[in-house]
Amino acid sequence: MKPSRVLVYCRPGFERECAQELSAIATEMGVEGFVKARPDSGFALFQPHQDDMGVELGKHLALDHLVFPRQLLRVGELIADLPEADRVTPIVTAARALGTSFAGLQVEMPDTNEGKALATLTRPLTPHLERALKKAGVDINDADAREGLHVFFVGGRACHVGVSTVGNSSAWPMGIPRLHMPRGSPSRSTVKLSEALLEFFEPRDLEKRMAAGSTAVDLGASPGGWTWLLVQRGMMVTAVDNGAIDPLLLESGQVKHRRTDGFHYTPPEPVDWMVCDMVESPSRIATLVAKWIEKGWCRESIFNLKLPMKKRWEELERCRGIIDEALGGGGYYLRLKHLYHDREEVTAYLARRTRQVDNPGGG
Ligand code: SAM
Repeated sequence: MKPSRVLVYCRPGFERECAQELSAIATEMGVEGFVKARPDSGFALFQPHQDDMGVELGKHLALDHLVFPRQLLRVGELIADLPEADRVTPIVTAARALGTSFAGLQVEMPDTNEGKALATLTRPLTPHLERALKKAGVDINDADAREGLHVFFVGGRACHVGVSTVGNSSAWPMGIPRLHMPRGSPSRSTVKLSEALLEFFEPRDLEKRMAAGSTAVDLGASPGGWTWLLVQRGMMVTAVDNGAIDPLLLESGQVKHRRTDGFHYTPPEPVDWMVCDMVESPSRIATLVAKWIEKGWCRESIFNLKLPMKKRWEELERCRGIIDEALGGGGYYLRLKHLYHDREEVTAYLARRTRQVDNPGGG
C-alpha cells in the first residue's frame, strides 16, 4: 500500500484553511487531486489523482511551513469497515504494508467531541494493537527509524493508517502540546507565548536568542502574561499598554510600564525583541511589525494576527504581502502557525535574515 494521501490534523473549524494551503502547494508542484475537508471535522485529506504524485507531495511538504495543520501524515486508503469483533487485524495488515520498523505508534482521533468519545474505544484497543504488531514482526520502538506509525480513527469502524516523518511532524499525540499554565503568571495568555517559543525554536537556540539581560518591548502587554514569561527568562521589558500591568511584575525591577498607544510608541534605543498581542486588524499589525524590523527597532518579533471569521487564508496572504513589500527580496524570515492555544488567530515570528539572526530550525 502506498501512502499517497496527505492527512493533516487541525483545530475544528479550520479545515477549509488546511484545504486551501494543501491545494496551493499541490498546484505549485503540479500535483492534481482534491481535498476532503468536512467542516468541523478536525482534519483534511488531500487525495491525488495519481498515487506517485501524492507520494511526492507528501515527501515535499514541511509541517513547519504550513500554518493551519498540527500534524502531517502520509496515509493510504481509508479502512472503512473494521469488524467490531476484530479491528486489530486489518490495521496490522495495513501497517505492515507501510513498513516493519517505526519510531513509535500513535493511536489518535480528531480533536472534536465525537473524536474524544472514541477514546473509550482506542484506549483498550491500543495494547492489543501493540501486541499484534509485535507478533506480526512490526517494531514500533525503533529509535533509529525515520517514520512513526499512526492510526487515526474517524469513527468506531473507520480509520486511516499512515506514517509521519521524524523531524517533520509533531511529537505530541494528536499534534497537541500539553502545556501547563505556569504558576504566578497574571494571565492565561502566557501559555500561548510558551507554545510559540516551543514551536519556533530549539531549547538551546532559545537560550541564545532570549538570554538573561536581553531587552524586549511588549506591545499590548496588559495584564502582563507575555511580559511575565520574558521576565522569567531574565529579560528587561518595556510593557506598552493603557491598561494596568500586574504590580508584582512592576516590582521585579525588570519592567517599565508605558501607558501609550502601541502604534505610536518608538523605543528610545533598539531592543532585541518586540512582542505584540494587541487586538487589532491583522494588516495593521503586519505593517507595524514590518516597520519595527525594517527600521531596526528590534531584531526579532513574535506577534499575533487576529483573523476574521471569513477569508482567513486570504487575510494571511495579504499580511504576507505587506511584510514582503516592506522587507522585500527575501531578506527576512517569517513563520506563521495556528498554535493549539490560538483560537481565531495565528502566531507569527519575524526577523531579518542576517548573520546575527540565524534562521530557526535552519528554514
Ligand atoms: N499579552 C497580554 C498578556 O499576556 O497578558 C494580553 C494582551 S490582550 C489580548 C490585548 C491588549 O492589547 C489589551 O490589554 C489592550 O489594552 C491592548 N491594546 C489594544 N490596542 C492597543 C494599542 N493600540 N496600544 C496599546 N495597547 C493596545
